[in-house]
Amino acid sequence: MSQKPANQRTANPVRRTKIVATLGPASDKQGVLEKMLKAGVDVVRLNFSHGTADDHRRRLQQVREIADRLGKTVAALGDLQGPKIRIARFRDNAINLQEGQSFVLDMSLDANEGDEKRVGCDYKDLIRDVSAGDVLLLDDGRVVLEVNRVSDREVHTTVVVGGKLSNNKGINKQGGGLSAAALTDKDKADLKTAIDIGVDYLAVSFPRTAADMQEARALLGEAGRHIGLVAKVERAEAVADEETLDDIIRASEAVMVARGDLGVEIGDAALIGVQKRMILRARQLNRAVITATQMLETMITAPLPTRAEVFDVANAVLDGTDAVMLSAETAAGDYPVEAVEAMTRLCLGAERERSAQESGHRMHQDFNRIDETISLSAMYAANHLAGVTAIACMTQTGYTPLIASRIRSGLPIVGLAHDPVAQRRMALYRGVISVLFVPGEKEGDRELNQRALDTLKAREIVKPGDQIILIRGDLMQSHGGTNTLKILEVE
Ligand code: PGA
Ligand code: MN
Repeated sequence: MSQKPANQRTANPVRRTKIVATLGPASDKQGVLEKMLKAGVDVVRLNFSHGTADDHRRRLQQVREIADRLGKTVAALGDLQGPKIRIARFRDNAINLQEGQSFVLDMSLDANEGDEKRVGCDYKDLIRDVSAGDVLLLDDGRVVLEVNRVSDREVHTTVVVGGKLSNNKGINKQGGGLSAAALTDKDKADLKTAIDIGVDYLAVSFPRTAADMQEARALLGEAGRHIGLVAKVERAEAVADEETLDDIIRASEAVMVARGDLGVEIGDAALIGVQKRMILRARQLNRAVITATQMLETMITAPLPTRAEVFDVANAVLDGTDAVMLSAETAAGDYPVEAVEAMTRLCLGAERERSAQESGHRMHQDFNRIDETISLSAMYAANHLAGVTAIACMTQTGYTPLIASRIRSGLPIVGLAHDPVAQRRMALYRGVISVLFVPGEKEGDRELNQRALDTLKAREIVKPGDQIILIRGDLMQSHGGTNTLKILEVE
């Protein structure tokens, strides 16, 4: 790109990278949720690993109420717990393991009777899934056990890395290979709750293959038309080869680089490349992607991020992620509002870099649909015509803004959605400003175009003298009908 970066065409660039924030006790405190939304949350995550159905319902009601009042578009992501395998509990709630000692995972032990020697586990198939020589990682890898032998009801191990181990901590197997199905009975019940309370996206934890996503889609049934599926990529099997990962991405509306569990299973060194490839691949396959876990971890207890965290967020932005996610930082931390503010600031900082705005996306690849061709051409034109300050897409489902936003640019893409479902769906897409814009039944072409311009002007996205590129279909109200591109002058 020879001209100056496109976002320097506007005085106040809007943040492009979206922020997902997990809700929990910290965001429940008086006034905090509203401050978080004001600070820039685009998607709230309702984590079904914690809290009751009523907690999630109440939180989502509050989000909708505040978002309406503030005139913001905020989507809700329900996150199913999945088959997170956990140890049971200790008589004294926690123990200390010494390196070199033996320790037994005992399938027949009472769930509350764990001690220094053994602890229970409610995933009885662990016996079948592990064998001598396997390495088990507990509490996100803080404690490491090596399996010596497996008997009828017991897994005998030696402690390789010791330390404190408390109730219900997770178990991962290095290299993957725990056979538990992605959707547990609890997940199936939570999926119904998620439909009932009206989430926009639903995340499936620990899918092994695309089939797990298809199962979730089948369970969604009719509601699947309104709810986008997110695959949390967090098992070694899911990234073992390109084909498996591609199939998982294609079976989903979005994917999450779930670095917590994934990092434990494949090791931190392998995680680096996987994040970069997953983001690239999701974009190439026209899917959205969320980068998650420990992004601002120290902000759970501190008001400022570390320099390393600053660069972790920046790297994800430069990798091209649609969204960055906050977990315990906003759900249970001491500084939930500051964490969102930091995300906003850091995303904006990284987006200023030229490489965040340049794109070779599909440059040497044929297009195969008319609507895609129009979307991609609009971006190409906008990036090259210096007077253009925004791209507006009239859309039934959010599809054309998604396609357009797979191209990096500094210019805002305004998704003019015909209904609130599509409007909230777009809240996850990088660079897309999501606006409700319902075409009138008898509204003529010129009136409609003019009203689109007025909408952008009223929101101060464009100003008189700017040019905008508008894409739409000749026939409104039909999905896939986008076939025109207009360059309009703002008066
Ligand atoms: P979790 O998933 O927060 O539900 O564990 C994200 C991750 O594993 O990174
Ligand atoms: Mn996880």
